[in-house]
Amino acid sequence: MNESMDLRDRVALITGGNSGIGLGMAQGLAGAGASLVIVGRSAQKNADAAQALQAQGAQVLTIEADVTQEDECNALVSQTVSHFGRLDILVNNAGINIRKPPQDYTLDEWRAVLDTNLTSAFLCSKAAYPAMLAAGGGKIINTGSMTSIFGASFAMPYSASKGGIVQLSKALATAWAKDNIQVNAILPGWIDTALTRQARIDVPGLNERVLTRTAAGRWGTPEDFAGIAVFLASRASDFVTGAAIPVDGGYSSQA
Ligand code: NDP
Repeated sequence: MNESMDLRDRVALITGGNSGIGLGMAQGLAGAGASLVIVGRSAQKNADAAQALQAQGAQVLTIEADVTQEDECNALVSQTVSHFGRLDILVNNAGINIRKPPQDYTLDEWRAVLDTNLTSAFLCSKAAYPAMLAAGGGKIINTGSMTSIFGASFAMPYSASKGGIVQLSKALATAWAKDNIQVNAILPGWIDTALTRQARIDVPGLNERVLTRTAAGRWGTPEDFAGIAVFLASRASDFVTGAAIPVDGGYSSQA
C-alpha cells in the first residue's frame, strides 16, 4: 500500500454509506484500512452494508439516523468518538431527489431535498469539527453532482442543493485550512444506483442521453468511487482543498 494512502489508524463516518456511491466509497476506505461508521435510516440496509464491509476485514459501526435532524447529526459524532475514540474522515453523501417541473414543488418537498442533501452536510460538518480538531486535522468529502454545474429541468431543488454543496465545501475549506482540515466535493456523473434506476424509468430518453454524452460510454458504478474516496481521505490529498472533482467518465468535458 502507498504509505500516504494508508488509512489504518483512521476512522471514517459516511452518511448514506449503506448503498450506492456511499457504499462504494466505504469499500474503498475499508480497503485502505479505515474503521467505518455507516449511517442510514434503514436498519436492514445498514446491516447488509456492514456485512459486506466486515467481509473486507473492516471494523464497522452502523447507526440508524436521519441526517435532516440536528440532534441526530450531533449524536453520530459522539457515538463515533465513544466507540472508536476519534473521527478523522466525514463523508457527507446522504441524498434524495424528487423529480417534477419547478412550478409543481411544494415547500415541504423543497425543504426535504435541501435538508437531506445540503443542510445535513452543514450539520454533520459542524458536529465533526471539534472531533477533527482533537485528532489534529481531518478530511471532509461532500457529494455533489453534475447538477452542481448544470441545471436539470426536472430536478430544481436537487440542483440548488448540489450547487450549494460546492460552495459549502469551498467556504469550509477556507475556514478550516488553518486547522489542517481539508474539504472537497466530488461531482458524480450518472451512476447506476437505486437513485437513478427510478430516474431511468421516470425520465424518457435519459438512458440514451447518458450513454451518448458520457465519454466513457457507460454508466458509472459505485466501485468507481473507491479510489477518489481514498485519495481525498488520505494524506495524499493534504494540499487539495476546496476542489470540486468530477467523477463522471468525461460527461462534463463533452460539449
Ligand atoms: P442511493 O439511494 O443508493 O443512496 C442514498 C443514500 O442516502 C442511502 O444510503 C440512504 O440510506 C441515505 N439517506 C437518504 N436520506 C437520508 C436521511 N435523511 N438520513 C440518513 N441517510 C439518508 O443513491 P446514490 O448512491 O446514487 O446517492 C448517493 C449520493 O450521490 C447522493 O447525495 C446523490 O445525490 C449523489 N449523486 C448520485 C448520482 C447518481 O447518478 N447515482 C449522481 C450525482 C450525485 P437510507 O435509505 O437507509 O436512509
